[in-house]
Amino acid sequence: MTNAKTLAVYGNYVNGTWKNSTETLPVFDKFTGEEIAKVAIATREEVTEAIDNAYETFQTSKLSPAQRSEILLKVVEIVRKRKEELALTITQETGKVIKEARGEIDRGIQTLIASAEEAKRISGQGIPLSQHEDADKLAFTIRVPVGVIGAITPFNFPFNLVVHKIGPAIAAGNTVVLKPAEKTPITACKLVEIFTEAGLPNGFINVINGWGHTTGQYLLEDERIAMYTFTGSPTVGRLIKNSTGIRKVTLELGNNSPNIVHKDVADLDRAVELCVSRGFFNAGQACISVQRIYVHKHIYDVFVEKAVQFAKSLKVGDPKDPASDVGPVISEKDAVRVEAWLNEARENGAQVFGGEREGAIIRPAVVTNVTKDMKVVCEEVFAPVISILSYEDIEEAFKRANDTKYGLQAGVFTSNLDIAMQASYKLHFGGVIINNVSTYRADVMPYGGVKDSGIGKEGPHAAIQEMTDEKIIVINL
Ligand code: NAD
Repeated sequence: MTNAKTLAVYGNYVNGTWKNSTETLPVFDKFTGEEIAKVAIATREEVTEAIDNAYETFQTSKLSPAQRSEILLKVVEIVRKRKEELALTITQETGKVIKEARGEIDRGIQTLIASAEEAKRISGQGIPLSQHEDADKLAFTIRVPVGVIGAITPFNFPFNLVVHKIGPAIAAGNTVVLKPAEKTPITACKLVEIFTEAGLPNGFINVINGWGHTTGQYLLEDERIAMYTFTGSPTVGRLIKNSTGIRKVTLELGNNSPNIVHKDVADLDRAVELCVSRGFFNAGQACISVQRIYVHKHIYDVFVEKAVQFAKSLKVGDPKDPASDVGPVISEKDAVRVEAWLNEARENGAQVFGGEREGAIIRPAVVTNVTKDMKVVCEEVFAPVISILSYEDIEEAFKRANDTKYGLQAGVFTSNLDIAMQASYKLHFGGVIINNVSTYRADVMPYGGVKDSGIGKEGPHAAIQEMTDEKIIVINL
């Protein structure tokens, strides 16, 4: 990194050194619009150089499980010391309100600690061979690192989602070439410097910056990458799957999360507060954000009234203000898209409370009288917009919740154990959260979707399973 006055310039991080690229792209403060840094646009040659180094490092350099674990814990120590500075970087480059940026760092710390713990627990299994001719054989499996991992990350959680990739990858003994989102790359650049400071030898994590369709695409084309771990949109996820042949891929993609609030909900106020606050958390830009809320008709009117009140009480504005609840979405272009989707809903009979746009800010919107083919319902809205729909019968609610191309997580509020168990089996999602919202995620849990929401699981333990190969060993005694 070099400093031109106060503007940081991050190149590509290869073998522990920032290397400048001939071209750069600007990174903006998403609230003020001010340019805050520049990052490289890595060329094909620069991507190859980063992979050469990660590949060479994997072949020649090994860290013991204890060393990996200690490095990850040292990263935690440094992150804790630099928490405020990192949180501010997140707020600037994403527009996320500062209290949520601090929360993201806290979650990332837990992800790092879990990765450090898992580094020491990677093991295979004993395999009982049971045929007569196998009596003289002993069989077991070992788990070995896959090699070089290509990690590609999205804009919305530039700390914790990067940690979810590089934490388990390093814990498992791999090397990594990381391509952070071009809209929010600075937090990731700071984080890899912290890994080096924590004692990770050079070459274990290299970073290439730049656009997805050029720099990202070059990363996909190099056969020495053994596995890709991607979080982002279904469109790019599909492209990655199609470009990488028989190499391993995990894809963590989008959702238009359904949440069902049944008439027997134990605490309606709590359900409203959770649904609404988690619909507007991170300005609605979370893959498991509450988007579609199916409310039983007996409690529908009171739910809507409380939801609108709650939405009105949120403070919208400058994300650096500690009192702000909702900041801008990632760009004015996205805000304009959301405004158009809200207009489409309105023109087709929906009622929209809030939703006014000012630049990149969308005021929290509660939408009623929607139909299933309106974009705010059937597509991933990725903005502070929730739709509330009424239902009569719980089976109908399950069917309507499932009527989507996505399948990441769903939430169900009920005090009936039978309904809770039916929901667990009948909702076709990677996770079903009972008496909490779809947005609930503990970073240690196995996390991932079905259908267009992706393949493979994250969460340090699950990710390490993905990032290692299980090898069978048979010993003829
Ligand atoms: P995106 O797909 O536009 O970009 C994600 C990353 O892919 C970026 O780094 C981008 O540069 C890169 N990329 C783009 N084109 C590429 C290409 N041709 N080859 C290689 N890389 C390429 O996603 P986004 O807008 O940054 O993030 C929003 C999306 O991410 C939403 O759909 C959201 O639901 C999803 N998401 C999912 C999860 C999850 O865990 N399931 C978590 C967060 C976000």
